Amino acid sequence: MDHLNIIKMRRLSLYILSGILLLGSGIGCKSNKKNGNMQNDGPNREGVTEVDPDVFIKEGLVEPITKVEKTLSDGTVATCYKITTTSVPTEHPMGPWCPTHITDGPDKGGKWFENGELYDVDGAFIENMADFYSDATWKMYDEEGNIFVTQTLEDCENAANPNVGEEYENFCVECQPSFVSDVSITYYIPVTPVKLDTPDYFNRGARGGGRPPADRKGNGPPPDRKDHQGPPPGGGGGSVVGLALNGVNFDPPAPTSEILGAYTLAPMDDNGGHINPNTGYHYHAATGMTAKVEQADGHAALIGYALDGFPMFERLDENGNEPTDLDDCRGHTDDIRGYHYHVAAAGTNSFIGCFSGAQGTFEIN
Ligand SMILES: [Zn+2]
Ligand SMILES: [Zn+2]
Repeated sequence: MDHLNIIKMRRLSLYILSGILLLGSGIGCKSNKKNGNMQNDGPNREGVTEVDPDVFIKEGLVEPITKVEKTLSDGTVATCYKITTTSVPTEHPMGPWCPTHITDGPDKGGKWFENGELYDVDGAFIENMADFYSDATWKMYDEEGNIFVTQTLEDCENAANPNVGEEYENFCVECQPSFVSDVSITYYIPVTPVKLDTPDYFNRGARGGGRPPADRKGNGPPPDRKDHQGPPPGGGGGSVVGLALNGVNFDPPAPTSEILGAYTLAPMDDNGGHINPNTGYHYHAATGMTAKVEQADGHAALIGYALDGFPMFERLDENGNEPTDLDDCRGHTDDIRGYHYHVAAAGTNSFIGCFSGAQGTFEIN
């Protein structure tokens, strides 16, 4: 079955569910459970809805999703979905990232965020960087207007290093999909999210490395330079925010101040993603290009799950409105979906502000 049909079916079942719920409340009936369709069963008494494994696109999975016991970030052991993905999006292409000439239009490049805004990285953007950042060191092109772009795996690895050398100053950094071979990442996400008493603000103390976090801008977890080296094997919550329905991870903010501090630029593509040679393709922005499950009541569409198992929805509902009652983590509760997140605007370099639930783990295979 193709994905559009799945969306249609889900919309239909939500309509049916709404009817059942209305009926149910009228006659004091309790739940109407449907196997394997937990998302549509609505929240439990704690306002928590189980993860629906059927919403993930099968082509993005290395193996069928199974259940295993795992220890969550709060030390509790919980049944988790084991989701192993290729980190390759199946519903949209990857790239482009860097334009190659200052006359290139926006179709030849990707996006960059600054002060909450998402900018097209076209030739004009590159040409204008010295003005844009009020720093004459920026000049990412030669006398003929050709833009300096990393060409090889070695270049993209070197330029993504925290101690990037001066030889990579004024390079637009991009890693090609062909540089990545056979990535698979396994995520363990609690089947039933466990709400924490106080949210987890992405504490990275346990991650080692000793590198102080870069300047904080806006909401969300502190930028993580390791983003571009990949999370440690067996690494836990904190360096992955969640998972899109295509199996690609939503990452913590890109370390923009370090990237810019080295006079490099590492654009996202128009889908909000770019490539890390070790961990593959990942997102730093939700630009509306990934698979989604529309909601029958006009609520924003489901686009993925956070590592704590709470569902992630688009920012805006079908009328273009953002919820006004979001907490620090960008979550709120309603009767149909229970507690859930609404992702931040694409230009903010973040998805959610914190984890409201105990996080599962992930490992790079
Ligand atoms: Zn990144
Ligand atoms: Zn909502």
